Amino acid sequence: MFLRPQPVRQPHAASYWAATATAPSFAGLVNPIETEVAIIGGGFTGLSAAHHLRKNGRRCVILEASEVGWGASGRNGGMAVPRYKLTFPELEKKYGRDVALRMYRLAHDGVDTLEEIIHAHRIDCGFGRCGHITPIVGEHGVRRFAADVEWLQQHAGDGAPSMLGRSAVIEKIGSDLYQDGYLEPRGAGIHPLQYCNALASSLANQGAGIYCGTTVTSWRSNGEQVEIHTPAASVRARELIIATNGYSNLTSAGSQLEKRIVPIASAVIATEVLPPALRNALLAGGQLATDSKRLTNYYRILADGSFFFGGRGGAGSRASPAAYERLRQDMLSIFPMLQGVGIRHRWFGLVAVTLDSLPRIGKLAANVHYGLGYNGRGVGLAALVGKQLAAQVAGEPPSMGPISDGRFDPIPLHGLRRPAKQAAIWYHQVMDRFQR
Ligand SMILES: Cc1cc2nc3c(=O)[nH]c(=O)nc-3n(C[C@H](O)[C@H](O)[C@H](O)COP(=O)(O)OP(=O)(O)OC[C@H]3O[C@@H](n4cnc5c(N)ncnc54)[C@H](O)[C@@H]3O)c2cc1C
Repeated sequence: MFLRPQPVRQPHAASYWAATATAPSFAGLVNPIETEVAIIGGGFTGLSAAHHLRKNGRRCVILEASEVGWGASGRNGGMAVPRYKLTFPELEKKYGRDVALRMYRLAHDGVDTLEEIIHAHRIDCGFGRCGHITPIVGEHGVRRFAADVEWLQQHAGDGAPSMLGRSAVIEKIGSDLYQDGYLEPRGAGIHPLQYCNALASSLANQGAGIYCGTTVTSWRSNGEQVEIHTPAASVRARELIIATNGYSNLTSAGSQLEKRIVPIASAVIATEVLPPALRNALLAGGQLATDSKRLTNYYRILADGSFFFGGRGGAGSRASPAAYERLRQDMLSIFPMLQGVGIRHRWFGLVAVTLDSLPRIGKLAANVHYGLGYNGRGVGLAALVGKQLAAQVAGEPPSMGPISDGRFDPIPLHGLRRPAKQAAIWYHQVMDRFQR
């Protein structure tokens, strides 16, 4: 059975991020309030929406069931990469060249928006355009990414991304497992939970209401007002933004969205601090990495010199001890030199997967907006979706191509998602093996 994530105030996951962030303390909602815009969810999407609403002079409150950044936003790889799951030639094949070009610009707007927010609030979260590498397994992957580099040069006039030869990948990654690599020099890294915490504190100082431990149990819109219910008090707002992503099934407040996405557990381990020789052998140029496999692994060196390694967490709604051990084995198969290095942190979070691998922004009613479904690419994109949600609240028409085209149907046979997820994992495993 798929267990609902717990709708109660909980400490952050036992993550490296939680152990190294400064946690603010936000009280829960106890008295009824009125505001212009209420936002459900205190992650990247909700916080960016609040930032842009405040910038537009709107009053807003965030209602978060647990703590700011408690969902995927405080648990992720902190890698902001101007790309989607699909390559740009694949997007062109599906939507045509103009839309693919629009999507290309949006992917960069996402990372740029994140950077703008960080600068606007003077957030110290280790932001840096350190570059992102996609180490490539197999000839099929090499062809996909070489075609991407060519497409970007030809159609977007963008010569920044490049292919790395095998020897360059070995030198930059520190593993000889990969055939080739794709370097996107504008990829950026952040400490994701520190970003959430600092942004929330700054927004609160500027007058945004941030209520934590405040689970929205239901809402009702009459088209002009929305009545939002939490266990202790209710909120009356002119507009509602739902930013609950992979945690949309927490209560019935997300029931119209939960069947449109599949939440997939992504697990992470972080090692103890590496000795200098090992530290200098892995990701020597300071880049971040997400490999090209369907069941992807992503990794980076952390600020204290420990190693972060993420990947699939299994078909359930939480990562099991077996999933963490499998992840450690995956790490050793790429980096055998890490044999014997201790694991200090293990945690997981839920990635919201959509049928076409693209996020969605739209409306459930005239004054009820949503933005979610990042497919593991939300660090940059959620900043942009938050900005677009604020624009949508101001009455601006949708401008994000297929991301805002309003087509976001429930997934057929959603109730069977656990066996379907297991079947998909097997399928992708087989494809990863054969598409070499
Ligand atoms: C392990 C992991 C690694 C990842 N790595 C990367 C990466 O390196 N790069 C990248 O681009 N993306 C990555 N992602 C994806 C990225 O983290 C997400 O796309 C992004 O954080 C989504 O932000 P969000 O604000 O939309 O949702 P979330 O951060 O999940 O926030 C949703 C919030 O809504 C709250 N909520 C839900 N229901 C209610 C309710 N009824 N009442 C009140 N509050 C409610 C939850 O408590 C939660 O805090 C990763 C994800 C995971 C899980």
